[in-house]
Amino acid sequence: MAASGGNGEQEVTAVLLKELGGDLVSLGGAIDPRYFTAYNEAPGVRPCAVIRPRTVDDVSRALALCSRLKQPIVPQGGVTGLARGAVGLDGEVVLSMERFAGLEEIDTAAGTVTVRAGTLLQTVQEAVDEAGFALGIDLGARGSCQVGGNIATNAGGNRAIRYGVMREQVLGLEAVLADGTVVSSLNKMLKNNAGFDVKQLFIGSEGTLGVITRAVLRLHPKLAPPATALCRVAGYDAVVKLWHRVRATLPSVISFEAMWPEFYRFVAANTPGVTAPLAADDGFVVLIECASSEAAALATDAHEALEQCLGACFEDGLLDDAALAASTRQALEMWTLREGLAIDTLPHLINFDVSLPIGVIGAFAARCRAALGERWPHAVSLFFGHIGDSNIHIGVSLEDLPLHGEDAVDRVVYEVVREMGGSISAEHGIGRLKRAYLGYSRSAAEIELMGRMKAALDPLGILNPGKVL
Ligand SMILES: Cc1cc2nc3c(=O)[nH]c(=O)nc-3n(C[C@H](O)[C@H](O)[C@H](O)COP(=O)(O)OP(=O)(O)OC[C@H]3O[C@@H](n4cnc5c(N)ncnc54)[C@H](O)[C@@H]3O)c2cc1C
Repeated sequence: MAASGGNGEQEVTAVLLKELGGDLVSLGGAIDPRYFTAYNEAPGVRPCAVIRPRTVDDVSRALALCSRLKQPIVPQGGVTGLARGAVGLDGEVVLSMERFAGLEEIDTAAGTVTVRAGTLLQTVQEAVDEAGFALGIDLGARGSCQVGGNIATNAGGNRAIRYGVMREQVLGLEAVLADGTVVSSLNKMLKNNAGFDVKQLFIGSEGTLGVITRAVLRLHPKLAPPATALCRVAGYDAVVKLWHRVRATLPSVISFEAMWPEFYRFVAANTPGVTAPLAADDGFVVLIECASSEAAALATDAHEALEQCLGACFEDGLLDDAALAASTRQALEMWTLREGLAIDTLPHLINFDVSLPIGVIGAFAARCRAALGERWPHAVSLFFGHIGDSNIHIGVSLEDLPLHGEDAVDRVVYEVVREMGGSISAEHGIGRLKRAYLGYSRSAAEIELMGRMKAALDPLGILNPGKVL
């Protein structure tokens, strides 16, 4: 799929500079390492140029020019992606969307926000909050990731069980194709079946089918402060039973996150400044958060509702212990444990983001740990995740990781995912990192169709080559 331009690097950069101008184009030593450094990694290959458009027309001209030159180009958002999708290879151009930022409109009647792709997620969250609404998407990287990146990766995050993933938030989209054509479909209606829904092509396509420039996102009623609790349950089957009970009796539930005993023991002992509210033992620990809209909260207090629900679950034997956060600080501490940044201190940590049907995740974790332990008896494997939306994260640490050992670890984990009918990417995408394993979760016919779509939209293969397919 890679582009096959015969132009030398100097020739390309000279044309880019001449036709787009020095305000948009940076070259050589003027390129800051952040444009070629994937999240949490050492700097990679310096791109031959970075283009930073200020308008949609700039994006269109840049892509038309790269098409003419058959020059590979990598769309870039906040570079918080965890699949190495936003950084290029030797001789590629980076198209950073950071200067095409800002909100264009909050339509209070339609309940939508129209936003430029380079806007930080947190900026949108704060603006819609001020206007009396909530955004349906939230994730740990909110302060650095961009809405365009969230759409391009179809981000999931902490609220998916309530609002769905990014795809469910996008009502309208504008994207620029590889040849520079602007496809503007800034729809604000929930129902619109006039022909194909072309925006779906770009959501989750990781910059391989077009560059997202603007989006119309749905807004939800503003939420009252949430109520948060940690619960201890006996085993994975009990986690699933608790999930179904909570789901049926607490309509305000917004997050349901599970931590396996080994994970909780580790983060409880190694998270500075946080006192774990539940003692670490052999039980699973579940974080539950619920939040009603501000209006509904006047009638029903979220803390009371959560307390009553957990009390009933305790009486019915669905949980062994629970701690309700008494303050925002305590709730944040519970989230700090769940986010599990403490495990980053483990040697040679390899992170996984996979999904499986909820009912088999317990068995998957056991099989995965056994498979890793059989090959590397000293492997540490820690399991945690959103669970309510079928997503599990795994941290694997091997103190004596052999050269190229990461590939071997990937293979062991993804083999188990494949055997159990799961997906090798729940929410982080494929990027360059998981490309070799796409066939573990998609059939040959699906991959062939993806290739046909790519060829139709980007026949020269200039958009983010070597990613996904
Ligand atoms: C602490 C932390 C927590 C995280 N938590 C979550 C989580 O809960 N859920 C989740 O889903 N992810 C999570 N992530 C991963 C990451 O934040 C998301 O994938 C995010 O959506 C990426 O946005 P970005 O702007 O940083 O995109 P980038 O990393 O810059 O790019 C990601 C991909 O999108 C493409 N792209 C970017 N912008 C555009 C555009 N305008 N048009 C076309 N293509 C584009 C790039 O080419 C690349 O392939 C987390 C990351 C961190 C560091």
